[in-house]
Amino acid sequence: RSIVEFRGITKRYRSGEDGPAALEDVTLSIRTGEIFGIVGESGAGKSTLLELVNGLTLPTAGSVSVGGVDVAGLDRRGMRALRRGIGTVFQGVHLLSNSTVRENIRLPLRLAGRRGEDALSGRQQAEEVERMLSFVGLAHRADHYPAQLSGGERQRVGLARALVTRPSLLLCDEPTSSLDASTTGDVLRVLADAREKLGTTVIVITHDLDVVKVLCDRAALLEKGRLREVFPITRSAAER
Ligand code: ADP
Ligand code: ADP
Repeated sequence: RSIVEFRGITKRYRSGEDGPAALEDVTLSIRTGEIFGIVGESGAGKSTLLELVNGLTLPTAGSVSVGGVDVAGLDRRGMRALRRGIGTVFQGVHLLSNSTVRENIRLPLRLAGRRGEDALSGRQQAEEVERMLSFVGLAHRADHYPAQLSGGERQRVGLARALVTRPSLLLCDEPTSSLDASTTGDVLRVLADAREKLGTTVIVITHDLDVVKVLCDRAALLEKGRLREVFPITRSAAER
């Protein structure tokens, strides 16, 4: 079964342009429950592909469906429902600097409560937040502020915040760029756990082929907006 389907996607940011499109005739399926990597040089179209999934960008031609629903056909309400089921961690994380780690992770639950969407009680929210704090290994940092954290810890707070609403799909843009090897390992472990323990499908952009090797089940290589190949990653049980 697939959770995301890109069919014949072409994306041009400026209409009537002759130059290369940001994406050109991309057809690709992401399977439910997999960790899927997107690799390619800067400007290849990786971010554009990710933004098509949550409707931040609409295709010039072709269609994107998520959970069997065509993204371009959604009204505002449908778009909100779509985004509720998708967690995102974009480059740079963007945590609230005047809020603690605990408050940052709780934010999506508060916002959902305010909109009256599957609202949890205050107590349930607090419990979910504590669960996510342990899930990403940051229970001991709960009362710290983002500036007191390392880059890897901030990234894990961003992941906890993205996962606290239990989305079925997680989109990550370069989650390990500017991290060293050991903190990269911590972040990758959280992504692998999200799939194993929460059942989240993960799509991750990275320029780091080691990340693909360690983390992903399959990956797509984009080159100047075109899908060059989709390759499976094989690894021995010991490497998992
Ligand atoms: P990548 O993530 O692989 O670096 P992008 O998807 O960001 O690639 O960009 C693909 C192409 O589309 C690039 O040529 C980029 O300059 C262009 N592009 C991306 N976003 C916009 C935008 N908002 N407006 C105009 N052009 C854009
Ligand atoms: P990133 O790691 O996300 O690229 P930076 O390294 O640019 O972010 O750091 C952003 C801020 O966080 C800076 O003010 C920096 O001093 C602080 N910072 C980064 N790493 C640490 C750390 N290990 N301990 C304390 N503060 C840190």
